[in-house]
Formats: sequence, structure tokens, C-alpha cells
Amino acid sequence: MNKYLVAGIVALPTYVAGLVGLEAFSLFNSHPVTTQRELEELVVAEKARLECKAPIKPILSSQGTARSLPKDAHGEYTLLVGELGANNRSIKHEVYHICKGHVDGEPSFLKYFFWNEPITALYEAFGIRF
Ligand SMILES: [Zn+2]
Repeated sequence: MNKYLVAGIVALPTYVAGLVGLEAFSLFNSHPVTTQRELEELVVAEKARLECKAPIKPILSSQGTARSLPKDAHGEYTLLVGELGANNRSIKHEVYHICKGHVDGEPSFLKYFFWNEPITALYEAFGIRF
């Protein structure tokens, strides 16, 4: 078997496990956000930390989610969190995605999976910025 293929077969699950582990570590160290006001305050604080001017409309959902959506017709990004996804770490993660332009346009799967997501997970877990 081709040595690069073998390396890929070994590396990919290791990479995925690392990424999942990093996000699980972060979730374990998170605290829940239960009010719209707390959500808004966290978004404002996170934007200030990132020196980010992107207009973000935070929505506390009743469904389990943590997502950031591209600009709407009013030029605002939407940050949607709910249930398990409504915690300070997920909010930090989604604000970083928005502020770094990860939700602008359509990134390829490879760029998303091997760049956008890991650098965001590192920021979420350790505050490391790229
Ligand atoms: Zn993400």
C-alpha cells in the first residue's frame, strides 16, 4: 500500500479524534447561558476581545444548536444558540467564526474541516488566535 495512503488512514481518525476531544474539553469547561441578555452581553464582550465590528444578532433558541449564519438582507449576521449549545464556549466559537469571515461565502469542505474549524476550536479552548 502507498505510504501516503497509510499515513492518511492513520492520521485522519487521529485528527478527527483530536478535534472532537478539543471541542469536548471546551464543552466540559463551559457554563450555560440561559437568558437573551446574558447571550447579548457575551457577544458584545467577545466582539470587543476580537476587535470585531461585525453586526451580530444573537438569538437564544429553544432548540439545541450553536450556529452562525451569513449576513441577512439588513447586513446582520445571526448567531443562534440553544439548549446544550447555549454556553459561553459555543458563543465564543461562533463569534470567532463570524468575525474571521468563516460564514462569508462558501468555503470548501477541506478549508472548513482542516482550517476554519480547528483554528476556531483552538480559540474556543485556549484563546489562541490565528
Ligand atoms: Zn465551528
